[in-house]
Amino acid sequence: MIRTAESPRPTRRTVDTHCPYCALQCGMTLSRGAGTEVAPRDFPANAGGLCQKGWTAPALLTSPARLTTPLVRVAGELRPASWEAALDLVASRLLEIRAEHGPDAVAVFGGGGLTNEKSYLLGKFARVALGTSQIDYNGRFCMSSAAAAGVRAFGVDRGLPFPLTDLAGADAVLLAGANPAETMPPFLQHLRGAGAKGGLIVVDPRRTPTAEQANLHLAPAPGTDLALALGILHAAVADGHMRQSYADERTTGFEAAWRIAAAYWPEQVERITGVAAADQRRAAELLAGARNAYVLTARGTEQHATGTDTVSAWINLALALGLPGTRGSGFGCLTGQGNGQGGREHGQKADQLPGYRKIDDPAAREHVAGVWGVRADSLPGPGRSAYELLDVLGTEHGPRALLVFGSNVVVSAPRSAHVTERLSALDFVVTADLVLSETSALADVVLPVTQWAEEDGTMTNLEGRVLLRRKALDPPVGVRTDLAVLAGLARRLGQPEGRFPADAETVFTELRAASAGGPADYSGVSYDRLRAGEALYWPVPGEAHPGTPRLFLDGFAHPGGRARFVPVRHTGPAEPPDERYPLHATTGRVLQHYQSGAQTRLVDELNDTVPEVFVEVHPDTAERAGLAEGGLALVSSRRGAVTARVRRVGSMRRDVVFLPFHFPGEARANLLTNPALDPVSRMPEFKVCAVRLSKEDGAE
Ligand code: SF4
Repeated sequence: MIRTAESPRPTRRTVDTHCPYCALQCGMTLSRGAGTEVAPRDFPANAGGLCQKGWTAPALLTSPARLTTPLVRVAGELRPASWEAALDLVASRLLEIRAEHGPDAVAVFGGGGLTNEKSYLLGKFARVALGTSQIDYNGRFCMSSAAAAGVRAFGVDRGLPFPLTDLAGADAVLLAGANPAETMPPFLQHLRGAGAKGGLIVVDPRRTPTAEQANLHLAPAPGTDLALALGILHAAVADGHMRQSYADERTTGFEAAWRIAAAYWPEQVERITGVAAADQRRAAELLAGARNAYVLTARGTEQHATGTDTVSAWINLALALGLPGTRGSGFGCLTGQGNGQGGREHGQKADQLPGYRKIDDPAAREHVAGVWGVRADSLPGPGRSAYELLDVLGTEHGPRALLVFGSNVVVSAPRSAHVTERLSALDFVVTADLVLSETSALADVVLPVTQWAEEDGTMTNLEGRVLLRRKALDPPVGVRTDLAVLAGLARRLGQPEGRFPADAETVFTELRAASAGGPADYSGVSYDRLRAGEALYWPVPGEAHPGTPRLFLDGFAHPGGRARFVPVRHTGPAEPPDERYPLHATTGRVLQHYQSGAQTRLVDELNDTVPEVFVEVHPDTAERAGLAEGGLALVSSRRGAVTARVRRVGSMRRDVVFLPFHFPGEARANLLTNPALDPVSRMPEFKVCAVRLSKEDGAE
């Protein structure tokens, strides 16, 4: 029998903390009286606001679905086991598999919701305790294209290289592929200034709640954002809005980028995207005419097989207008997962070491190996990216065992039926989880771990600000922290005592040393400074350093200090519609749910509001497929099919359907999605694939 959680025992009555979900990391106060409650607090990112997910977050702490004992599969069933027995089993099986097939036969998969300490220790555990190169994480599905484009243009990637509150002074903001009205509602208050001045531009194929609030909504066909960015750049240059002196002094490469953009005049781009040429020119005018302006991207424009080039196209536009590195203006991307920023800096990515260092850089290897007390040549090299790793699990040349921390890949990976098959082909799967998620349900061993309010740890929000999330409650009896799990496994794998500490502050102290001198330098961030309320934005290279709220004011991170235009051209979606699959499907989030829904589906108030997958479709398109409002549709792609409740939405493009991706089993939107990968970031093309619609009984 699986034990469920009892009410947590309080250790303090009131604690300032942060929301467990998205990268806005809203400040909240958790208080414990008759029950556990949260209230928003005056923190700059949310300024007293919380969304429904934040308000209901305490329900996670007492969910009857919480796991409180390790589970081990016996005769096909998961059964309760002691921690000793479970950890002994995991260590012995990993050692066996490694002895038989080599260190890369064991793979590790992390998550963008893990604290900095967990991300760091997980990367170290993979490289040192397991000796495997096969580690990646779900942030590859989230931020990797924006990160790659940011590094290419600016020399370093920090989602927002300025404090969020700077946006309030903007006259114009272009949001490309972002729907914060549903994903992070308190963020909208930072856009009020631009909206009031008529300068809020939203690029999204759907008329989302965010697009409803825009002064100008541009709705390109899915997969054509890159062409749209080129069209607006063309209009800006042709209409005399180019900031030539900025380009001359602070950038390189405009001519090469322009040679391509010159062929994308607005009327030509209208034919590709469906966005009126006049609206493209209007967008260019609004941005160029603003005293302060920002271009911001998010997953809608990034999760494509051309995601890196698409973000580069938006950056080129921002550079032509002289925005990045200018006080009061800029370019940024809106990180999604709670620790999407810190999670990509400290070593759980296949090609990376802590401090945002590259794993194939000899100097980086020497530095980190020195902190870890191992030889640099003992560290493995780069491994496979997330989808490429999942795709080869259990194959002749792929890993035989997988450890999953903070991720639910059965729901969140593209082409999810295939990924489920690959997991099932493994010899051994271990998960560390709060509840029996869809991925944990397939595991051989499930280790119950603590969550946000039950542990100390740091998160780095979408601005690059490091936050201390303090322990407010004792976890349920029987639950351990992920750090304790890694420490316990490391000892059993033969690591010396103390090399894998279980205390968060001790791990963070080591992270500081490992990151010192790297692009994301946390060496000057300490728990004491965070406890004292200091607002520390990385890099913070030293205890006396005040942090860096605004990057790039004095120069970009490339040698010579200049930003780089990158020449990019439109190629379109990897899978264009055709006669068999005539529609574009795009996927995204709803207000009530977060990522794979493993947590929010447990909260009645959220799940009762949106309990099942739906498909938004234009009434004319629905009519042609014989689909009534509230009926069931079968949405099919080359990879699978989803049965979804029909919502006829007059503002949808006739060639597009939308499905949220929070639901499990046969309702997984990712049964449809295309794993075509971006050549630079290895981001899968979540945001567009070709589908057809029919009645649920299959009649077309
Ligand atoms: Fe804030 Fe995001 Fe939590 Fe909502 S989910 S309360 S926007 S941190």
